[in-house]
Amino acid sequence: MYRSLVLAFFAAILTGRPAQAQYQIYWGDMHGHTAHSDGKGSLDDYFTHACDVAKLDFVVVSDHDFGNAAPWKLPLETWTLTQDKVDQYTKDGKFVAIAGYEWTSQSRYWTPEEPLFQGPVKYYNHKNVYFPTRVDYLFSARDAAYNSPSLLAETVLKLGGLIQNNHPTADTEGRDQFDYDPRYSSVIVNSEIWPDTMQYQGKTYNVNMERTLREFLNRGGKTGFVASTDTHEGKTAAKTAVIATELTRPAIFDALRHRRNYAVFNARIVLDFKINDHFMGEEIEIDGKPRIFAEVKGTANIDEVVIVRDGAVIHALNPNTAEARLDFQDDSFQGNSYYYLRVIQADKDEHGNRSHAWSSPIWVKKK
Ligand SMILES: [Zn+2]
Ligand SMILES: [Zn+2]
Repeated sequence: MYRSLVLAFFAAILTGRPAQAQYQIYWGDMHGHTAHSDGKGSLDDYFTHACDVAKLDFVVVSDHDFGNAAPWKLPLETWTLTQDKVDQYTKDGKFVAIAGYEWTSQSRYWTPEEPLFQGPVKYYNHKNVYFPTRVDYLFSARDAAYNSPSLLAETVLKLGGLIQNNHPTADTEGRDQFDYDPRYSSVIVNSEIWPDTMQYQGKTYNVNMERTLREFLNRGGKTGFVASTDTHEGKTAAKTAVIATELTRPAIFDALRHRRNYAVFNARIVLDFKINDHFMGEEIEIDGKPRIFAEVKGTANIDEVVIVRDGAVIHALNPNTAEARLDFQDDSFQGNSYYYLRVIQADKDEHGNRSHAWSSPIWVKKK
């Protein structure tokens, strides 16, 4: 029922697209741990929860490449088992499991505390790496051959995998997280996003993930947006929506590779965002002014829908209804900009955080 509604929603707005491309929204979680690193539960527990309890369409499992519960490196037999399990749990059209790991770079690798590498201390943060097909080796942040984002990306690119920037931070620990050659944005395609300000047990935290990503985009960086639970208790949830033609591993990877994905915080907000009939995640060249179209189906009343261009809000709606539609021509377009959509609903979780959604950006250039 839900699927067919979403399909109808997209079919209605896909005018001008080939009839056979029936895009749908599929919900997933891009990041979580099991007892094979520092989480709880088995791989079976993880996938069973994702499929039967969280009702996800797809899920990535991503244990640390080293961790508290593992030797210095995730044993190769665990990586092999992970790949066996994702094949066992994947049922095309029903559920897709994806084998990944968390490339866990630590600044202490460059210090006398743990002197693995020479040279200035690097703060590369963590990155999730995942593959559509079997890969026999795990490219660890503690291996000199893969200890920088560019070295990692070069190898993952050759093997058809994808990388995401995990929990981007504005502090020192994330200082070098975007330190990679821009051409690797074809493999380091997405970044995790959360609201800039979060409430937790009565306290306010300035997480500043969206701000960190906006600043990266403002510098000319290319990234789409995903979100994840990063669960360590096996409790995955719908955090990332991909727009794909079918529920298979190749189709999910195709969507992620083209950044045809968006992130949510809490509710499963249905979002469509296009510029001149192009999908989120695309880089386009146009004549004239960008025509921005958005349609939002919320799960509660929507407080605001905003268009962010080059880091600043250029257009805002306050619908106060569960559905909203936006059709806006950017007459002040100067010839080279990125745009994304942010939605905030009125509903609140037990800590007081409102539900959010962020489209991946669309990059627009004048022809
Ligand atoms: Zn991490
Ligand atoms: Zn993690």
